Amino acid sequence: MSIEFNRYIVVSHFSPPGLGEIEGAQVIEFRRDPLTGRWSRINIERAKRPKQTPSGAMVLKELAERTRDNCPFCPERIETSTPTFTLLPYRRLRRGDCWVFPNLYPFSKHHAVTVFTPHHYKPLDTITPEELKAGINSAIEYLNDIQTIDRSARYPLLAWNNLPPAGASIVHPHFQVLVDERPPGIVSQEIGASEKYAESGGCFWEELLESEEERGERLVKSSHSVSWITSFSPIGNREVLAVFRGRSSLADLTPREVEEFAEGLASVLRYYSESGSESLNMLFYSGPLGDDISGYFYLHARIIARPAPSTLYVNDDGFLEKLCAEPIIDMTPEDLAKVLKRYMK
Ligand SMILES: [Zn+2]
Repeated sequence: MSIEFNRYIVVSHFSPPGLGEIEGAQVIEFRRDPLTGRWSRINIERAKRPKQTPSGAMVLKELAERTRDNCPFCPERIETSTPTFTLLPYRRLRRGDCWVFPNLYPFSKHHAVTVFTPHHYKPLDTITPEELKAGINSAIEYLNDIQTIDRSARYPLLAWNNLPPAGASIVHPHFQVLVDERPPGIVSQEIGASEKYAESGGCFWEELLESEEERGERLVKSSHSVSWITSFSPIGNREVLAVFRGRSSLADLTPREVEEFAEGLASVLRYYSESGSESLNMLFYSGPLGDDISGYFYLHARIIARPAPSTLYVNDDGFLEKLCAEPIIDMTPEDLAKVLKRYMK
């Protein structure tokens, strides 16, 4: 069974304002995700839309200064302003400048926060691979500790909302790490669809990597343990996928694999920062803890850029994204891969 990259285009005709009767046209490309069947729409003209809100470095600087004095995640307050674990052998897990502690407003039975830098605000291009590596390793240590006290907690989520446009309520950079009894939303869809795909004899993820390596148009970088590609049918803008060949569970990553991922992620962050996006969402889509399903499902992380903070914020999720689950994208994955290759040599 070969992977199908289905797409079609429509053309929207209209007269742009101020040009009289001259007809203009814009091309909209519809793409179907080859695993889940989810559709997205790409119109590269939308990147040129005028934004009626001020944004830029000053807004970020003001946001950082206004929130620093009361930040519970800054080093001078973290030990008095954050909750503590009651079921684990430690109150908080500390590894150097990294801290793991319970989320004060959880949406899972096991829901922790990982603060991976002592700096209250860091532009994305200054976040180091070492900080990212330490944060991910601490989160994995927490996941393994949860497994020893609760075997029903099987599906881990390691996520990052950076800055308010991505859903973060606290400016200070932090990951969130959760363990659920069942895989949520798209994780469940992807694992189910991968299992179904394997019934015809192949591993979707291995075939995806082979296909992208052969085509080259969405491949950014491929190495022994992690391959970086752009998604054929993205969920969000500037979407990048890091796929861990032969691994299904987040907890099984080795320190070397985490290090390699952190180095690649820092390159993606540098690109986002230089293209004006200081905000992002990231999530690891993982198979169950303690169960190897790498025969048909590979662990992967999805990273998307979100708008820069501004004084009058305009969200990039409208009715089509929130109420139809069909995102509108403003850059082709192939163009994104071309740019990213320069950052990830
Ligand atoms: Zn802080």
